[in-house]
Amino acid sequence: MSEPHSEDTSQVHAKTEPANSESGVHVTPPVGEPVAKIKPGQLPRPEKTEPRKILWQHVFVLSAVHLISLFALIPWLFTWSGLTVAILGHFVFGMLGITIGYHRLLTHRGFTCPKWFEYALATMGMFNLQDSPARWVAIHRLHHRFSDQQGDTHSPLVSFLWGHVGWILYRHKDTVRTIRYAKYVPDLLRDPYYRRLERNNGWFTVFLVHAIVIVAIGAVVGYLNGGVNEAIRYAASWAVWGVAVRTVFVLHGTWSVNSLTHMFGYRNYETRDQSTNNWLVALIAHGEGWHNNHHADPRSAAHGHRWWEFDMSWWVIRFLEGIGLAGNLVRPKSWASKK
Ligand SMILES: [Zn+2]
Ligand SMILES: [Zn+2]
Repeated sequence: MSEPHSEDTSQVHAKTEPANSESGVHVTPPVGEPVAKIKPGQLPRPEKTEPRKILWQHVFVLSAVHLISLFALIPWLFTWSGLTVAILGHFVFGMLGITIGYHRLLTHRGFTCPKWFEYALATMGMFNLQDSPARWVAIHRLHHRFSDQQGDTHSPLVSFLWGHVGWILYRHKDTVRTIRYAKYVPDLLRDPYYRRLERNNGWFTVFLVHAIVIVAIGAVVGYLNGGVNEAIRYAASWAVWGVAVRTVFVLHGTWSVNSLTHMFGYRNYETRDQSTNNWLVALIAHGEGWHNNHHADPRSAAHGHRWWEFDMSWWVIRFLEGIGLAGNLVRPKSWASKK
């Protein structure tokens, strides 16, 4: 949910830093000395968020989706089909869109796939109200580069609340406009599809259209079930459950990766940040909770490194490989060294 982008993003890639790999992926090695272990509250906010300016459109949209999800407490708005759409959306849009699409494919290029399928994954990513593909990827690459240092956009070492959601609500000079974060995503902004989504918050239109489609299908299902009254009830139910509740659940899953798995859990690797592995986050965020493993080996498409670290996204990527939709899977370096 960046500010409306009025810049001509077709010029953006001309201002980018040279990509340092053949595929054009902007690899962002960690910089600086290993951080001494510090407690939440000890890290200053990113200096690029000063002077502080609240992004009211982010506050408004995130508040709205949370408030709408509270309507789930009204029994009249509960339908089994609405709940089913929510659960399916959590797995299909949350996992294929965010963890596999935005994260493991677009950010880290942990596997390859046909271009049409990449666009399909990126499009499903936008159904989760987590910003445009280019901005999400830029922020995440910044996170890997400066993890738990002041340049990190969302370290919970500022405070739990800051790492979880607070950082989204404040302007950050490097991530507020496409022209400012283009240097972190030259590979994406070379692509007209991703550039177009940056203009006039095109990605947000995609989110709205997906919500309208879900509500419309709910209305049809309700009508077939019991006429006009049921059409209204089902449409409202699918809006609340199938869109709002699911979106809020996926949002907090992703946000928990930023907050909880830099605070609570165990570590397999002595990375320079304070990332952890957390089974609860791994469960709700489709394997993303093995976050210390991920910081130790960011390109790997598998985040669970030990046999019992179940990573559903990895198994879905393996399935996609089996049906010819994914290839060149990057496996953890630690697996190779054990052979
Ligand atoms: Zn992290
Ligand atoms: Zn990552």
